[in-house]
Amino acid sequence: MMDHEQASALLPGYLDGELSLSESLALDQHMAQCDACRLELARQRAASAQLRQADLRVAAPAELVKRITAALPGRKPLWRRLLGAGSAAGSSGQTSARAPLGLALASLAALAVSLGLFLRLPSDEQRLAQELVNNNIRSLQVDHLFDVASTDQHTVKPWFGGKLDFAPPVVDLAAQGYPLKGGRVDYLAGQRVAVLVYRDKLHPISLFVWPGAGEPAAPRFEERLGYHIAHWRAAGMNYWAITDAGASDLSGFVSEMQKTGN
Ligand SMILES: [Zn+2]
Repeated sequence: MMDHEQASALLPGYLDGELSLSESLALDQHMAQCDACRLELARQRAASAQLRQADLRVAAPAELVKRITAALPGRKPLWRRLLGAGSAAGSSGQTSARAPLGLALASLAALAVSLGLFLRLPSDEQRLAQELVNNNIRSLQVDHLFDVASTDQHTVKPWFGGKLDFAPPVVDLAAQGYPLKGGRVDYLAGQRVAVLVYRDKLHPISLFVWPGAGEPAAPRFEERLGYHIAHWRAAGMNYWAITDAGASDLSGFVSEMQKTGN
């Protein structure tokens, strides 16, 4: 059993979604009995939300801007500097032209490299998709698909009650061929989310749900490491579904979900 000191040390990692599953579970167990840790977690969560919202940029004073601008090298466009270097070299020889041209090419190359790096950075959406895949693999490996095993939405929905600060919509789609199997609380994008597990024939479909401000968004589908993923936003919630079932099975599930208004 984790003691209070160990638990407090893990709280920041818990908030950032960096703990292993077993650490998270142990911390959950501890927090269920420790008011101090629960309060501290709420405090840290509020503080980090505030930091994210605050505009931390500060405008530079005009005088500083002027000094920096004056200190910068000539502000001629690159092509003009290249051409200028060439014509200045003129007939007096090519050696003098070679140095600036070489420098310019070197900085072009550096620009291309950093642009390439920039373009290769994963978007938030791709990062989330990868986290979803990792999460799904982990839950299958430790055989931890759900904490509440029930096909009854009236059992599953209240089960989330004390564990999340929002109420995920829980619908059964048994009549449509996707019976509800259970649910669990998990971590995605640094927060606690509801996971509803449905079954399509032999394949589980895990549906991650958490509140999301913003306009409703139509479903988008992708495949990653053999898993099919769909995500959309409706009725103030983010939905990310992942399964090893086929693409058409998943899109069938998604359209049934949407018919329920979610
Ligand atoms: Zn504690």
